[in-house]
Amino acid sequence: MPAAGYTTTLHIRLSAPWTKHQLVNHQQSTMKVLKFGGTSVGTVESLRNVKSIVESADEPVIVVVSALGGLTDKLISTARVAAAGGDAYFADYQAMVKRHHDIIEGIVPQEKRQQLYVIVNALLDELGNIYKGVSLIRDLSQRTIDIIVSYGERLSSAIITRIISDARLFDSRYFIKTLDQFGKHVLDNDATQKLVHATFDNASFKVAIVPGFISTDANGDITNLGRGGSDYTASLLGAVLGAEEIEIWTDIDGMHNNDPRYVQGTSPVSELHFEEAAELAYFGAKILHPSCVLPARLNNIPVRLLNTMEPQRPGTLIHNMPSTRTIKAVAAKDNIIAIKIKSGRMLLAYGFLHKVFETFENYRTSIDMMATSEVGVTVTIDDEKHLAAIVDDLKKFGTVTIDHDMVIICVVGD
Ligand code: ASP
Ligand code: MG
Repeated sequence: MPAAGYTTTLHIRLSAPWTKHQLVNHQQSTMKVLKFGGTSVGTVESLRNVKSIVESADEPVIVVVSALGGLTDKLISTARVAAAGGDAYFADYQAMVKRHHDIIEGIVPQEKRQQLYVIVNALLDELGNIYKGVSLIRDLSQRTIDIIVSYGERLSSAIITRIISDARLFDSRYFIKTLDQFGKHVLDNDATQKLVHATFDNASFKVAIVPGFISTDANGDITNLGRGGSDYTASLLGAVLGAEEIEIWTDIDGMHNNDPRYVQGTSPVSELHFEEAAELAYFGAKILHPSCVLPARLNNIPVRLLNTMEPQRPGTLIHNMPSTRTIKAVAAKDNIIAIKIKSGRMLLAYGFLHKVFETFENYRTSIDMMATSEVGVTVTIDDEKHLAAIVDDLKKFGTVTIDHDMVIICVVGD
């Protein structure tokens, strides 16, 4: 099934180019990048807030937008239904059409609707034709999925441009470029930097609307930055253009000092170092993907997490400043497997740890934590897919014991 290949992790796809090329730090401009995720642009009510947040900015802003909340998933699932043949996909497609029309009716000013409908309906018709083609041919290539998912951000950005006053659309297909590496799209760092400068350096705008996530390759074919990639679009625009700050607007008021799903009375942490934020993200604070904010981090651009539904809340500011000497947050991760390798004889020998790590590497299983002692080493993993094979291999180096159902408790702070 080619479609299954779509959900690759962002880490692999996105981190590589940035670790190699740190950007030149440009003069800090008085410009901010604001990114609104799917839930922020998913309903008329939330779009009203987006409008008032953006319009109250007193400096130029670049506004990166996701597709309407849940739409990317819908675009993909509908594609799969279409690929099974027949017209079962059509009801889902119609629901997507209606959803966009309802948003337009609900919030776009009357005088802008007619022109907008021409654009939006042209996009929706194209999408409908593609689904129809997929259902006739009963084939769904990666390339076709890339084209299908692009409609989410193309539609949302066209609509949002007509909701916010003084807004101008900047199509990221012209300045976010990808290369193909090992069958995946990765950012073309050099081309993107050049094109972002060429697009924005001398452009005058009060509000620049940019569709997140989507990009093109050297042939001009539509690609994307991977699921959740709008954060990456925002982060790299902010980094390349030397923005004063990048604001990530979601439906949560920042990163909390404890997991609100399990702990009552948690509160948002006002400031975090990028490293602390990455640590919390690993422990399930899904609000921000560490590799997505890497360009911002490497270029010293603070990232602020804010809540679209409660814009007056302070949220969480993430920066590179030294941490204040406090404990800021506690997080926990369940379903951890601890593997202990005991070997009095081998431990101090050359290459023991190397062999242990190599075993995990051979099975592409990443180690989260480790502890060593005189007689052994304990590592933790959260992926037990290759556990049996790993343990078999490790037995060559010593006695192996396994503890299931362990928990990692992470205390973040200085
Ligand atoms: N719409 C895309 C997704 O859902 C990109 C994003 O929202 O960041 O993955
Ligand atoms: Mg999304």
